[in-house]
Amino acid sequence: MATVMPKSEVADYQMYIGGAWVDAESGETYEVVDPSVEEVVARVPKGGVADAEKAAAAAREAFDRGPWPRMKAAERADVLRRAAALIRERSEELARLESRQMGKLLEDSLIDMNDAAHTFDYYAGLAVDMHGQTLEVPGDTMSMVVREPIGVTVGITPWNYPVLMVAWKAAPSLAAGNVMIVKPASVSPVTTLELARLLEDAGVPKGVFQVVTGPGGEVGDHLASSPLVDMVAFTGSVEVGKHIMRKGADTVKKVGLELGGKSPNIVFADADFEAAVDGALIGIFAGAGEVCSAGSRLLVERSIYDRFVGELVSRAMAIKVGPALDGDSEMGPLVSREQLERVERYVKIGVEEGATLATGGRRLEGKGFYYEPTIFVDVDNAMTIAQEEIFGPVLVVIPFDDEEEAVRIANDTVYGLAGAVWTRDVTKAMRVIRALRAGITWVNTYHPTYSEAPWGGYKQSGIGRELGTFGLEEYTEVKQINIDMTDQPMGVYQRGKETPREGRGKVVPLSDRRPFQRAGQDDEVRGSWVRYCQNCGE
Ligand code: NAD
Repeated sequence: MATVMPKSEVADYQMYIGGAWVDAESGETYEVVDPSVEEVVARVPKGGVADAEKAAAAAREAFDRGPWPRMKAAERADVLRRAAALIRERSEELARLESRQMGKLLEDSLIDMNDAAHTFDYYAGLAVDMHGQTLEVPGDTMSMVVREPIGVTVGITPWNYPVLMVAWKAAPSLAAGNVMIVKPASVSPVTTLELARLLEDAGVPKGVFQVVTGPGGEVGDHLASSPLVDMVAFTGSVEVGKHIMRKGADTVKKVGLELGGKSPNIVFADADFEAAVDGALIGIFAGAGEVCSAGSRLLVERSIYDRFVGELVSRAMAIKVGPALDGDSEMGPLVSREQLERVERYVKIGVEEGATLATGGRRLEGKGFYYEPTIFVDVDNAMTIAQEEIFGPVLVVIPFDDEEEAVRIANDTVYGLAGAVWTRDVTKAMRVIRALRAGITWVNTYHPTYSEAPWGGYKQSGIGRELGTFGLEEYTEVKQINIDMTDQPMGVYQRGKETPREGRGKVVPLSDRRPFQRAGQDDEVRGSWVRYCQNCGE
């Protein structure tokens, strides 16, 4: 069970198409850079439209004729469980690679690998527990509903949780009997390629899981519009999410979108002070703020505002920023120079718009893309830094006077991904949580996520849900099956027959609602498109 990672410092990777490890059709490659030290970690194929097309054709073949969708669910579940076991077995190595390619602290990468393994185990369990419905319908008809795979699914993933975002998509998709092509973020494709090797070792047949590396604007764009693809599950920015929706429209693809956020973290005066300060820090500085659900808008009740901000700022100033693989680091670098410059631009805008910089606001000297934990206070919610997703270690703090104002400010955003409330008053907590227009919420904590609970946003934060039973349903089509139990012809167009035989009735549109009569039976024509009806012309 060799991994793809060679012994040399700069690893050369191939991508995984149709069960084979291949270079890009163009032969081009690009470099993946470790943001902690600005050194090249790996070279990967720079795939393009031709490679995406090849993967789409292989996926189509694997779905239309291959064994995976036709296997018993229990057999698919066995493969997914083996994948979970292999992730656990290789978690140290995968986690180191994850941290090196995108700068996440090693302990956080280890948590991601554990979560990814759990996601595969969880959907292995659900694969054998998928069920439909049987329906009570009029007449001698049996009607049932079954779930079936959608077909060729595509996962387009971001760089902030490379392995976990693939697990959230591939585990339910494969469990439901689909095949999947993944287009990982260009800056962090390496662990997704490792995951492909691991799934191959676990027994996933060829063409069922594929990885095409390369620019989103070419590979992702092509897959989002390919007629060979049935569904795109995208996690990333709102801007690209909208683009993918438009691209999928021509072929009426199913589109799942997990997009950005500007989530409110609301602290009331009656909260446990220490716990809330901790929660505010974790909410924004975990993962250097490169977390879609980050609590990037901190709303603090005015009566504790000064004391709270004072404690928050002194704790933020003490956060140790350093390399991802250094066990002493409490916050790693940003993923790339581009991301560092984006954060710098927003901080400049914040200052220009009149927000007060309480701490941070500078990049660190030397190698690596490090930025100070940064806090703006006395922010107005209308400011750009309170409305747009910065995706870095930048917190904006906004005071509020009462519950009603807190809810109003919290919901005054185009996003609706996450939100939290800190208070000891349980009824107040529930009132505020129910008033929040967001899909993921917490009371007196921030960030815990569970494979069992649906993940996704309201408003412009997305469409659909990942994880939980909801996440599995997203990867299924629903089919109704109606079985006539009478063994009789339908009894229409009988005139041309030598011996006309009385049938069950004839088809009438719903608009012709009238009493339904059948030998010895009275019934109403009820709520569906067509019904069989005898003597309905009378
Ligand atoms: P991004 O939108 O720049 O890229 C995401 C993916 O889309 C990458 O694989 C990229 O290569 C691809 N892509 C880019 N242009 C494309 C195009 N024209 N067609 C098809 N694909 C294209 O996002 P990012 O910078 O990688 O990640 C950060 C964003 O992801 C943030 O907005 C963050 O909030 C969001 N995110 C959301 C969640 C969630 O669960 N809601 C989780 C993680 C990250």
